[in-house]
Amino acid sequence: MIEQARQTLIQTFGFDQFRDPQQQVIETLLADGDALVVMPTGGGKSLCYQLPSMVREGTGIIVSPLIALMQDQVNALSLLGIKAGCLNSSLDFDELQRTEAALVNGELDMLYIAPERLLQQRTLNLLSRAKLALFAIDEAHCVSQWGHDFRPEYLQLGELAQRFPDVPRIALTATADARTRQEMSERLHLEGAKQFIKGFDRPNIRYRIAQKDGAKEQLLSFIRAEHSGDAGVVYCMSRKRVEDTASWLAQKGFNALPYHAGLPPELRNHNQHRFLTEEAVIMVATIAFGMGIDKPNVRFVAHLDLPKSIEAYYQETGRAGRDGLPANAWMVYGLQDVIFQRQMLESGQAADEQKQIERQKLEAMLGLCEITSCRRRALLSYFGEPDHPDCGNCDNCLEPAEVWDGTEVARKALSAVYRSGQQYGVTAVIEILRGEQTDRSRQRGHDQLSTWGIGRDLDKTTWRSVFRQLVARGLLRVTPDNFGSLYLAESCRALLKGEETIELRRDVRPAKRFTKSSSSKRPEFNLTHADQGLWEALRNCRRDIADEKDVPPYVIFHDSTLLEMVSLKPTSAIQLRRINGIGDRKLEAYGPAFLKVISDHLAEA
Ligand code: ADP
Ligand code: ZN
Repeated sequence: MIEQARQTLIQTFGFDQFRDPQQQVIETLLADGDALVVMPTGGGKSLCYQLPSMVREGTGIIVSPLIALMQDQVNALSLLGIKAGCLNSSLDFDELQRTEAALVNGELDMLYIAPERLLQQRTLNLLSRAKLALFAIDEAHCVSQWGHDFRPEYLQLGELAQRFPDVPRIALTATADARTRQEMSERLHLEGAKQFIKGFDRPNIRYRIAQKDGAKEQLLSFIRAEHSGDAGVVYCMSRKRVEDTASWLAQKGFNALPYHAGLPPELRNHNQHRFLTEEAVIMVATIAFGMGIDKPNVRFVAHLDLPKSIEAYYQETGRAGRDGLPANAWMVYGLQDVIFQRQMLESGQAADEQKQIERQKLEAMLGLCEITSCRRRALLSYFGEPDHPDCGNCDNCLEPAEVWDGTEVARKALSAVYRSGQQYGVTAVIEILRGEQTDRSRQRGHDQLSTWGIGRDLDKTTWRSVFRQLVARGLLRVTPDNFGSLYLAESCRALLKGEETIELRRDVRPAKRFTKSSSSKRPEFNLTHADQGLWEALRNCRRDIADEKDVPPYVIFHDSTLLEMVSLKPTSAIQLRRINGIGDRKLEAYGPAFLKVISDHLAEA
């Protein structure tokens, strides 16, 4: 049967071989076994259940929380000649009945269902009348409370094991950590499932984290320098910031759209649709955006605010470069982010135990921001892969960060906090250190303190950098109220007593840092002038076909497929067929149009 799956891979999908561990996963399902699959975004999870759904008798039931994207997935499959349908609340009664009938009559290879609908009695009855090939539970980490996308309706998916004991089940996620994995396995009753855990590295993504210094301007110069004409996502914490940033980028001439939970659903869907179907849309969004977005050519993900955890950061940045071509994960953060996240956490309603978890996660995220060694190594080791070498494709590798002995300076900072009564925020404490005469400092009698003016040798920016690092490392804490008063943490004692030293990161002015390390070219920049013309022509051809079919361009062909056309310049169907991503259907449907573009180009040259 695996041979049949391989033939389908080649003929229908146009790929010449399996990626690791697709073959083993598929074999497991074909042999009636269950599987738990953890693979990074872009790793190729979909084929793990699509191929067995097609090869096994009956319909593959795919559980996915992403109602808005189901129809897109069904459309993309139908262009490949695969019979798929979906059941969710957006269907009208006629469509619903038609899809249900098709299922019972065994006419579907795959059926996408939202979890809450799957567990309705009506659906369960329907399923028991149909022949089922398998259950695939996508985004399976949603079942875990430890994870960050918990969805209560996922909890009941465990029932599938008892109700359909003979139907193999596969759970898939890109979320890595061991605890989430364990919860998935227990709650979905997949204790007996074979586990497939693929390495988490995304080598084509370049990670960069720099200090905030006029965030919007920084973002603008980053996009102008490296991503004009590209699709990207900009993550912000609040709805207001999303709106501000989107309209500001739009004023600057970019196709930037907002996305957050406060927008009317129609507008949200409209913006999402534009992001998927147009080539160069920048989505400015809260974390409400992104899960299940499988647009392969998102060239950058930018963060204007600090994510709560490394899991969230990795998942969000992972949406860049699914096609394997170079992509950027870019973030700026500052003292205010650190303070804000800490306050949010401490003032939240969560139980103490939960807070402790969140605190650990935030520590890890801050650690990643402040680290001076390879970021990828740190990320991967967080996800349980400690043995990677330096990557050569993150800011710290490309441009080693300087450190300096901050022991003396940190002690001054800590005593200034202590001597002024642990009741002031950063700005006031810096005024004390720098001995700045203001009405406020005179009123408070700060000029009488022994720490008054002991830090005149450093400028404000440097002091802010010092405080950021002290708060990030947990030596100083911040009250969760509006004042954000600093106070000493137990852990700073050794440093104060002179028993410990501390190394601080020297913050490079962002402008410098970014121009120097901005050599990650977009793929088309590596094309010769003549090839650039062909690339554009092929993209136009793809665009026209996509418009006509009303699907996103990447559903016709990926950028990587077009780039292969540019470099190989095939002149016959046989040559074209060798290119990755061109299966029988697509060869027949679109081959002639693309061959014509290529031969016209060759004739002109
Ligand atoms: P995931 O769901 O793991 O994020 P996808 O299933 O969307 O990843 O696959 C990512 C990309 O890799 C898709 O564009 C897909 O077409 C491509 N892909 C998957 N498997 C293969 C393969 N065996 N050979 C070539 N490309 C593949
Ligand atoms: Zn690195």
